[in-house]
Amino acid sequence: MTLHTEGSITFEATGAFFNPRMQLNRDIGVAMTKALGISEYLDALSASGIRGMRVAAEAGTEKVTLNDFDPRAVQVMRRNVARNQLDCVVSEKNANVLMHQEHFQAVDLDPFGSPSPYISAASRSARSYLFITATDTAPLCGAHLKSGIRKYMAVPLCTDYHREMGARILLGLAARELARLDKGTEPLLTHVTDHYVRTYLRVVKGAEAADRSLQSLGYLEHCNSCGSFETLRLLHPVGICRHCRSRTALAGPLWLGKIQDPDVITSALVAGDLGPRAKKILSTCAKEVDVPMYYDHHCICEKLRITPGKIEDVISRLKSLGHQASRTHFTGLGIKTNATLPELEEVLREN
Ligand code: SAM
Repeated sequence: MTLHTEGSITFEATGAFFNPRMQLNRDIGVAMTKALGISEYLDALSASGIRGMRVAAEAGTEKVTLNDFDPRAVQVMRRNVARNQLDCVVSEKNANVLMHQEHFQAVDLDPFGSPSPYISAASRSARSYLFITATDTAPLCGAHLKSGIRKYMAVPLCTDYHREMGARILLGLAARELARLDKGTEPLLTHVTDHYVRTYLRVVKGAEAADRSLQSLGYLEHCNSCGSFETLRLLHPVGICRHCRSRTALAGPLWLGKIQDPDVITSALVAGDLGPRAKKILSTCAKEVDVPMYYDHHCICEKLRITPGKIEDVISRLKSLGHQASRTHFTGLGIKTNATLPELEEVLREN
């Protein structure tokens, strides 16, 4: 058996999962943990335990928990803890289970590949700090676009600044996950070194803190022709309306695809023992035009200072002009159509 030394720790490694090139990552982790005065720390994906043991021995952190779901890693970890005379807690659980069961002042995620499967549970578990390593730089930076979108629920672009793109895509996911739990995100240090992204986040409890951090979320619009880029904030007016030239606001990311399957809905109408209200909802859903959102008939007429006519007449007229149009179950006053707002307004003025 080969023993390694890193910092103040002598340890045996767990085969493929010890990467000496990550020493710099761990050195900075120890320095940050010490600088922040962290007293309770979870190394959620420990392997040999080197990261958490160094935090216990070098950062003065009183309560360190080392966790791995692999029993062989846990055996190695126990021997390493004894070898270095540390009193770390050793845990053999699926990290997501442990992080749903217990809270820690600081949670550190250092997985093989993407941290995405653990960020939700870690956001729940972390009271004050969340540290994350991601080694899946190709998805994060836009080189493996589809994988990046799946893992991070955001669209990364492989641009000249792809390394910072990766860091910000990771931060975006963490901020969204924390915000869902009424926790704010305050990045303390973020670096992209060698093949990984590493970020240190302060977690601030409370809906107001979460709202504040959501103000830092947005989109980046990049021109592939000249290479210039602009940022668009999610929560602030951003663009110019092509119809009236006023400022617009952004919603999203949200689902823009189909929300109804008429065949399935029709089968449910036949199969179910439904009352008249349920039948009406389902039949309207089955007939809804497959376009996002709807216009409110009365709101538009009020804006145009005209008296609303029959909604069915408006829908028929839109169809006769070659547009798709239908009512919607969302509201009795709604019109779903692929016509533009000016086209719809023209029909309403004619009516
Ligand atoms: N943090 C370690 C270091 O600094 O040397 C390296 C950790 S290694 C990249 C990832 C470890 O996570 C492996 O030992 C693996 O067994 C463990 N692991 C993967 N999925 C896990 C899960 N869901 N729960 C607990 N451990 C897991």
